Amino acid sequence: MRCKEFVFLQSSGQIPTMGWWRRSSTLAHVWICRHCRSFRHNDELLTAYVAQLHAHWDAADQQAK
Ligand SMILES: [Zn+2]
Repeated sequence: MRCKEFVFLQSSGQIPTMGWWRRSSTLAHVWICRHCRSFRHNDELLTAYVAQLHAHWDAADQQAK
């Protein structure tokens, strides 16, 4: 697997939907590639942040009603 392919799969959120063989090749890639490891880390932080933001917006919507 190339970095470009990994970044595409990670950023499009496809990895959880892939078969175990493809998923294990993404794991093998982040294990050997520190660039993609830090990319994945940042992507996970960003995903968590966006989820918090959505929760905040939902709470603000509830108050507005
Ligand atoms: Zn890589």
